[in-house]
Amino acid sequence: MIRDVIVIGAGLAGSGVATQLATQGWDVLLLERDHFPRHKVCGEFLSPEAQHSLQALGLYTRAAALSPSLISQARFVSRRGFVLQMPLPGCAWGVSRYALDAALATGAQQAGAELRTGVTVRSYQAVDGAFAVQTRDANGPAEVHARTVIAACGRHTQTGLPPETRSTAEQARYVGVKCHFEQVELPAQVELFMLPGGYVGINPIEGGRVNVCFLVSYATFAQAGKRVDTLLEAAAQWNPAFGQRLAHGHFLPETAAVVAPVDTYRPAAPWAGMACIGDTAAMIPPLCGDGMAMALRSAELCGPLAHDFLRGSLSLADWEACYRQRWFAEFSQRLHLGRLLQNWLNVPLFSDLLVGVGHLAPPLAQYLVQATRG
Ligand SMILES: Cc1cc2nc3c(=O)[nH]c(=O)nc-3n(C[C@H](O)[C@H](O)[C@H](O)COP(=O)(O)OP(=O)(O)OC[C@H]3O[C@@H](n4cnc5c(N)ncnc54)[C@H](O)[C@@H]3O)c2cc1C
Repeated sequence: MIRDVIVIGAGLAGSGVATQLATQGWDVLLLERDHFPRHKVCGEFLSPEAQHSLQALGLYTRAAALSPSLISQARFVSRRGFVLQMPLPGCAWGVSRYALDAALATGAQQAGAELRTGVTVRSYQAVDGAFAVQTRDANGPAEVHARTVIAACGRHTQTGLPPETRSTAEQARYVGVKCHFEQVELPAQVELFMLPGGYVGINPIEGGRVNVCFLVSYATFAQAGKRVDTLLEAAAQWNPAFGQRLAHGHFLPETAAVVAPVDTYRPAAPWAGMACIGDTAAMIPPLCGDGMAMALRSAELCGPLAHDFLRGSLSLADWEACYRQRWFAEFSQRLHLGRLLQNWLNVPLFSDLLVGVGHLAPPLAQYLVQATRG
C-alpha cells in the first residue's frame, strides 16, 4: 500500500501539517517515536503568532480548550539583579507540552490522519518517484511507503538528514531542562533570570501550575551537579530573584525532563531531499519564545505546496524552490536576530546594558522582542 504522505514526528509541526493535508482528503500517516501524553523540554510559552497559525491549521479550538494561562508581560532579571519589565505585543499563552502535543496529535487523527505512536523512523530511500521509510516499533522493524515524506522530527537529525545541517560550534550547544511547580505566586507574566552560562524562564501554565525551563551550557549543568533538583538550588544562589520567586513553591519531580544537545546554531535546511518543517528546518534560540510559532507557521507554509504536489499541479523541484523561498523570506531575519540576542545576553555586561537600554528607550526593547517573531 502506498500512502499519499508520511509525516515523521507528531510534534507541533508534524501534527499541524498532518491536520492540514488530512483535511484536504489526503491519506496521511503520522509516525511518532513517543507515546502521548509526555513531558517535553520547552518554556511552554506560546506566542500570539503561534495562536494565529493554530487558527489557520484548524487546531485553535482544541488548544484553547486546554485553558492556557494568559501572559501579557515580560520581566527580565540580569545576574546583577537589574530588572526590565515590559508589556508583550499581544497576549501569549502558557500551556504544557504534555497537554498541547497530545491535543494536536488527536486533532490530526480526527481530521483523518492515521497516527502511530511508539514508532521510530530509522531511515528512508527515494524509490521510483516514491519513498520507502524504514521504522522500528515494539514488534520490530517494518517498512512503509508513500508518494512523499515530510520531516517534522524536531531538532535532531536522526532520520538520515544530511550531516552538514549540524553545527560544529561546541559553544553553541546547550542542555535544556524543564519541570513544573505548584503553589508559586506569579502574575500573568513570563520571567527570565540570567545565570552563568545560560538562563532560566518561568511562566504560568494551565491548572495553576508554573513551568520552569533552563537553557544552560554543559559546564553550568555540570557545575550544578547534573540533576534537576541541584540545578534549581544552584540557580537560586546564582540569581537570588529566581530563588525568591520559587521559595514557597512545590517542585513536581515527575514533570522533569532534560535534553541535550540543544544546538541553536545548526544552519537552516528547509529542504533535505524532502520538505523539513519546524525545528528540523532550523531552531531559533528558545529565548525568543518563537520556536513553536515557527513550527506551526512552517507547517502552514508547507501544507498547500504539498497539496499542489500531490494533485499534480506542482513538480517536486517547484515545491522545493517555492518552499525554500517562502521559508527564508519568513524566518531568516528573526533567526539571525535571535542568535545575536542569545550571544549578547550570555555576556553579563551586555545583559545589564540591555536592561539599561530597555529602560531608557522602551520602544527599542519592544522592537527587539517584535523582530524575533513573525
Ligand atoms: C529549552 C527550550 C525551551 C524552549 N522554550 C520555548 C518556548 O517557551 N516557546 C516556544 O515557542 N518554543 C520554545 N522552544 C522551542 C520549541 O520547543 C520547538 O521549537 C518546538 O517544539 C518545535 O516543534 P517541532 O514540531 O518542530 O519539533 P518537536 O516538538 O521536537 O517534535 C518532533 C517530534 O518528532 C518525534 N520524533 C523525533 N525523531 C523521530 C523519529 N526518528 N521517528 C518518529 N518520530 C520522531 C519526537 O518524538 C517529537 O514528538 C524551546 C526549546 C528548548 C530546547
